[in-house]
Amino acid sequence: MNDTICFRNIGQLVQVDATSQPPRLKISDGRALIVKNGRVEKVLKGSGLKSSNYSKVIDLKGKTVIPGLVDCHTHLIYAGERKSEMECRLSGSSYLDILQSGGGILNTVNATREADEKSLLKTAKARMRRMVALGTTAFEIKSGYGLDLDTEKKILSVGSRLKKELSVPVTLTYLGAHAVPDGSTRSEYFDFIMEHLPQFRDLADGVDIFCEEDVFSVKDLKRLFLHAKLVGFTQLRAHVEELSYQGGCAEAARLGAVSCDHLEYANPRDIRAMKHGDTVAVLMPGVTFFLGGEKIPLVHSMLDAGVTLALATDCNPGSSPTYNMQTVLNLACHLYRITPEQALVAATYGSAKALEGHKEYGSLQPGQRADFLTLKTKDYRDLFYYFGENFVDQTFIQGNPVRIPKNPAIE
Ligand SMILES: [Zn+2]
Repeated sequence: MNDTICFRNIGQLVQVDATSQPPRLKISDGRALIVKNGRVEKVLKGSGLKSSNYSKVIDLKGKTVIPGLVDCHTHLIYAGERKSEMECRLSGSSYLDILQSGGGILNTVNATREADEKSLLKTAKARMRRMVALGTTAFEIKSGYGLDLDTEKKILSVGSRLKKELSVPVTLTYLGAHAVPDGSTRSEYFDFIMEHLPQFRDLADGVDIFCEEDVFSVKDLKRLFLHAKLVGFTQLRAHVEELSYQGGCAEAARLGAVSCDHLEYANPRDIRAMKHGDTVAVLMPGVTFFLGGEKIPLVHSMLDAGVTLALATDCNPGSSPTYNMQTVLNLACHLYRITPEQALVAATYGSAKALEGHKEYGSLQPGQRADFLTLKTKDYRDLFYYFGENFVDQTFIQGNPVRIPKNPAIE
């Protein structure tokens, strides 16, 4: 049967026009969206009912339609939680103080090592289903809470099961270089990562590193990237210039990183390097909010230079326990002083580009996956104006409505 669905009576249809420079939103009223075999076939003016060769017609009753949101930086496969650490931070300890005293990431590492694959899959799947209900339709997921061979592989194996079991695009990243595990020196552990890197080639789409004072250096980043390229990884990413300036951003961009992430301390030289390397700047305002950071990335300089911006949750139990890209959109606008249009383009087209998926999804253009959201409002800007609301009425994946879990995905 010809599986063609007509979504008629759309109030405000929001797409991304990636052909304009910079990419912009294309907003039209009174349209019908035609979806054939899970992909956008075309957009018609008016009701779309003149052409009657549809297997199904869905009346959207004037609702707003926007592209599904893309979360291009998450650590959502983990066990445990870190509420006590939050209390320590709120009483004055810094994130790095906690990490150096054996807490922080290492807490989550211990819990994740102890958890079996089945329970990790169960919790990660509940998180992702909640994220989909809140509007996310494509994901990146990192390992990095194992810091040993077995657990890193266990996390990526859970990732590939999620990729098979949920019908959303998932990009997997090997982040062995997330922290130095207890019982190793930095150089011992880094040598171990380099030695075993080829074993991860079939388990992940890319590699990542946390380049930070007392964690991994710019020299480590360079060694990892050069080796990863030799092994055959094409997607190189890096956590850079987050808590201090190290110089990792410029080096990563020079070596062909697809994205540089965080960037609170990135300077104009780094911005030029990202522009030159066509590296996407992934920004995560939820971390700034949750850690009480005062440093805001040079977002306007990035936009002026023509660097592609992306937005992500950084979903993780230590620095950004959120599943909600709507919150990220809202924070991006008001912490970075960017417009709703700039934020929405970043969270759709920009984040898809950070995953090299922008031809396949993110803009809701003909030929792309029909992953979109209907909103409980007639104006997409309400996502940015009212905060603390959930405006997603329904998430559609490849033209099919997704069932919404009622409960929050907490353990
Ligand atoms: Zn991260």
